[in-house]
Parts: sequence; C-alpha cells; structure tokens
Amino acid sequence: MASTCTYQFDTAVYKGAVAFPTQLFINGEFVDPVNKGTIDLINPATCKAIARVSAGDREDIEAAALAARTALKEHWGLKVSGEARSKLLHKLADLVDANTDQIAALEALNVGKAFHAAKAMDLPIIVSLLRYYAGWADKIQGKSIQTTPDKIGFTRHEPIGVVGAIVPWNFPLSTLIMKLAPALACGNTIVAKPSEFTPLSALYLCTLIREAGFPPGVVNIVPGYGDTAGQAVSESMIIDKVAFTGSTLTGRKIMEAAARSNLKKISLELGGKSPSIIFDDTDVDQAVKWAINGIFMNQGELCVAGSRIYVQEGIYDDFLQKFTESTQCLSVGDPFSPDTFQGPQISERQFKRVMDYITSGQAEGATLRLGGKRHGTEGYFIQPTIFTDCTPNMKIVQEEIFGPVAAIMKFSAEEGSLIFHVPVSNSFHGVKEVIEQANNTTYGLACSVYTKDIDRAMRVASNIEAGTAWVNFTNWPDLGLPLGGFKQSGIGKDLGEDALENYTNVKAVHINIGIKI
Ligand code: NAD
Repeated sequence: MASTCTYQFDTAVYKGAVAFPTQLFINGEFVDPVNKGTIDLINPATCKAIARVSAGDREDIEAAALAARTALKEHWGLKVSGEARSKLLHKLADLVDANTDQIAALEALNVGKAFHAAKAMDLPIIVSLLRYYAGWADKIQGKSIQTTPDKIGFTRHEPIGVVGAIVPWNFPLSTLIMKLAPALACGNTIVAKPSEFTPLSALYLCTLIREAGFPPGVVNIVPGYGDTAGQAVSESMIIDKVAFTGSTLTGRKIMEAAARSNLKKISLELGGKSPSIIFDDTDVDQAVKWAINGIFMNQGELCVAGSRIYVQEGIYDDFLQKFTESTQCLSVGDPFSPDTFQGPQISERQFKRVMDYITSGQAEGATLRLGGKRHGTEGYFIQPTIFTDCTPNMKIVQEEIFGPVAAIMKFSAEEGSLIFHVPVSNSFHGVKEVIEQANNTTYGLACSVYTKDIDRAMRVASNIEAGTAWVNFTNWPDLGLPLGGFKQSGIGKDLGEDALENYTNVKAVHINIGIKI
C-alpha cells in the first residue's frame, strides 16, 4: 500500500509538486489502518487512477477518538486559553495561505473543479474561515444573569468534548474547515472523516496542522468509507457530537446512530432544491448571470444550487434566450485549463445519477432546451442542461440532482396572486402561487429573489421556507452570516456566530451569597 503521494503538476495553470503521506492522521502521526484498508482515487476528468490512500474502519475511529479524548484532558479544552487556540488557528491560516496553489491543485485533481475557481474562491474562504474563528476563540463567553439578591448566577460556554466531523466531496476542504475552525476555537478536539472520494486535501492539511504546532490528538483525520468509518463516528461512545455535511439520507442515518449510541449531539447541513424567483422589474442581464452561477457553478454540485428557476412572463422570453445563449458559452473541460468554467462530475455514480435525471425529465414531458448529453468522450463531463415546461411534481423539480441541470418555469403575477403557466396537458394545470410552489419541497436550504421592488423582495423572501434568502444575487457565502437549512435541509447552522452554538455546552453556575436553610 502506498503511504505517500507525490504529484508533479505540469498544467496550464499550475506547475509544481505536492508530496504528503496518505495514511490516517491519528494523535499527530501518520499511521496505517488496523485492517490495512485502502481507497483507490480516480481523477474524474480522465477516469484514471491518481492515488491509493488508507481507509480507516471502526478500530481506527476508536483510536482517533481516544487520542482526541486524551488531548482534550491534557492539552486542549479548558486547559488552554482562547488566545493560545486563536494563535494556532492563525498559524494554520498562514500555512494554508502559503500553500493555496498546491491545495487548489489537489482539489482540481481529486474533485474535478476548475483550478482557478478553487484558487479564487475555495481557498480564500478557507483562510478567512480559519481567521474568522481564530478571532472568536478568546470571545467564547457566557453572561451574568441576575435573578435573586442572595445569589450570583452566570453561564459558562464549555467545549462539548470530542467532535466527529463527517464531510462530503463537493467542497472537501471548505466543508471540513467549516466544522474544524469553530470546533477548535471553542476548545473541542476533532475526529474528521473526509469523503472517500476526496480525502487528498484533508490529508495534505494534516502536514500543515503538524507544522502549525497543534498538540497531538487535537485534530485527527481518518479517511474511510461512509458505511464503515462514517458509521463508526456516529456510533462511537467516545465522540460527544457529530457535525455533518452531506445528503439528507445520510443525515437521517447519523441521527439514528446518535440516538442509538450515546445520544450525542448532532448538527446536520443537508441537501437542497433551492428556488430562484425572477420578477419582471429586475435587471435581466444581471439576473441571467447570477442564475447561471447559481446552478452551473462547481458543476452544479452545490447544496444551495438554484435548480428551480421561476421567471415572470413579461421577461420570460428575453430571460430564456439570454440564459440559453450564456449557458452555451460556458466552457466545459480540463479543470487545469485557464478557460474552464465547468469540470467533470465527481464519479461514475454521480454521472449516471445526473444522466438518469435528464432522462426522467424528458420522459415526464419537460422540454430539453439545451444540453442533456455527455460532454466529450472521456471523464465524467455533462453538458450544461436546461429544461423548460417543467411542472411541479416532475422529479427534476422535486429532487436534488446535484449536477448542471436547470429547470425553468414561467409564472404571471396578478392582483394578489401569482399564477403558474403549466402545459395544458398536465394534470396540475391551474392556478398555483409561486411562493407555494417554491415551498412545495421537503427541502429548505436557500432561495433567491430578483426584483427592484424592495417590499416585494422582503415579502417573498420572508415567505419562503429556507435558511438563506438572497435578494438580487445568489451563492455568495458570507462568513459572518449563518448557513443552514429549514425542513429536511438540516439542523443547526454553519458559519457566523451561530455556528459556535454547535460546539459548546452551556453550564449555569449558581453561587449562594445569602440563602440559608
Ligand atoms: P453523502 O451523504 O453520501 O456523504 C457525505 C459524507 O457522509 C461522506 O463523508 C460519506 O462517506 C459519509 N457517510 C455516508 N454514509 C454514512 C453513514 N451511514 N454514516 C456516517 N457517514 C456516512 O453526501 P455526498 O454525496 O458526499 O455529498 C452530496 C450531498 O451533500 C448533497 O446532498 C448536498 O446537498 C450535501 N451538501 C450540503 C451542504 C450544506 O451546507 N447544506 C454542503 C455541501 C453538500
């Protein structure tokens, strides 16, 4: 089994080498898994093997959890000042910042995302996340609560303990840092399990964690499969909390495992089917650009993807024409080419899943206006795809596709109500409120509204059941604002001050200064 990776990149946008161990990172050391498991990684742009990394299983997760528990007692948690934790997070941010090219290259190689997009978006966000939560580390505080005169009462926000972080493949390092940075800032230790498809950037991070000087056991990273290593994290009796990003299906399994084991705390960032509602009075050119980014960015592998686009009839034809023309210009191809907007889907499984949705859209009667086919002859590339004449219960309107497929629908606004145009042959022919339709989903992650009328923007945004509402733009993360779903899109929040609640226990302290019995 290979225990190190060395990549020699000689590409259009990055030339250089990256070398790092590919074993499990437990207690500050790179170690082999107990059962000698491995994962073979594929470059989704070529379908060729790129690396073999270690795969941890239950015994390795337990070893990592024990190391994290020991570190918590001996050199982290309440033993270390917020200032010291802050310094280490800043140091890690400096190291990531100094290695952005290498990490962006690993993300492009392993995920298939465009190198320049990873460098311009993912990496700056990762560095800023580390600095943002470094800033919070010495400001984790409770409050004094005056109740009766003969008592002093206050609250302390203490670390929860050992945090298990389970993350997906679409933003491998950003989703990991979204858990790791606030958890460490609050004084917890970590056992992280990256996706089995994309562990490379997390493994590279381990070398930087060591260089930054984090004590052994504070951060442990164990690549492995979901139904073995992931399940073991959710079931561990040593782990006090699981912070998860991934599909709603897996989120459910994690919740069940947490309930069956030690009733560990959970926070879940799950899937979405986010609506974009575009009114007549909007700046059409801007709305087109945002909506394209909303659905096609990152190969459409976005939890907040604006995959259902509702356009008012007055601008519908103009919007559709411009949206189609601009989508035709998106360059699909080699993630290491400077012109690439869209790379391949992550895996064969995901490629087939997206193609099946395209087939189902056609079978259910939607009009395939653009794309719908494999792009090229090798790799998991899919043409950016646009469907029109979509009706509310079609699978492409109801289910998360997680690929470059937009479903566009027309509506007209009348006095007091918004009416949908659906094909006459469809059984849902009739009047539908656009807001009702936007809410007609089990998900509630995000939405976007485009209009110059601020009253309407506020009215619509506040009536949509979603954790994030963007007005006149979309997919623009702000580290200071929380991200998290309503309904089956999740429990708890990432980002902002709200994320800190995921990682602390609140203790109420009562001091008797006069109560006698
Ligand atoms: P997934 O649920 O298949 O896998 C996510 C992680 O869970 C992986 O590390 C996987 O190994 C692990 N896992 C799988 N089965 C498990 C089990 N039984 N127990 C414990 N862990 C298990 O999701 P994915 O395909 O990697 O990612 C795509 C999904 O992630 C989409 O649904 C997307 O919407 C969601 N996502 C959500 C957000 C958000 O912030 N809400 C962000 C990114 C992705």
